[in-house]
Amino acid sequence: MKIFPRWEVQVPERIRKFYPGTLWRGEDKEKVVYLSFDDGPVRDVTEWVCEELKKRDIRATFFCVGENVERNPDIYRRLVKEGHKTGNHTYNHLPAWKCSGKEFFENIGKASKVISSDVFRPPHGQLYPWQVKKLKDRFRRIVMWDVLSKDYDSRLSAEEVRVNVMDNVRPGSVIVFHDSIKSWPRLKQALPAALDFLLKEGYSFKTL
Ligand SMILES: [Zn+2]
Repeated sequence: MKIFPRWEVQVPERIRKFYPGTLWRGEDKEKVVYLSFDDGPVRDVTEWVCEELKKRDIRATFFCVGENVERNPDIYRRLVKEGHKTGNHTYNHLPAWKCSGKEFFENIGKASKVISSDVFRPPHGQLYPWQVKKLKDRFRRIVMWDVLSKDYDSRLSAEEVRVNVMDNVRPGSVIVFHDSIKSWPRLKQALPAALDFLLKEGYSFKTL
């Protein structure tokens, strides 16, 4: 049973158009996905994700929160060492619609001191169109998503999270999971199952 409409998991084109210059999906014609994890690094959870990826020889992109990198610098170093890409997700998960533009860019700058990256993802996908141009001066890619697992939503079962990914994935999909305490109850079952499904379907994995 699906509680949520599909549009939340896979945002329609007409809405994506409001964010010109951002990346929602790769142009790949072949079976390629861009796996991403937001909001870490978090003790135990991110380390477990690393193990699951290592077992399957998969590389992903981790959009990190600056203050979590400061709390767990060893886990951040592990991500880099194991060939994953890290991205900037602001210093303390600050959504653009909840602060001034000045505050938003200062927060991103503060995160840049501990996260060396050329890719950025806005918390909650919140951005004003004018901010995209300014962000593109600092980052190569402003990344949104093609498939939102909704692993953070406690109203969903792990099974529903897995189905969100399996039912909506397509060539070039940017897939979002969260290496967070909040997502953990669903992530621990949904992630291994989703990864095995994608491998079985013949998908390969690229970083952003
Ligand atoms: Zn986030």
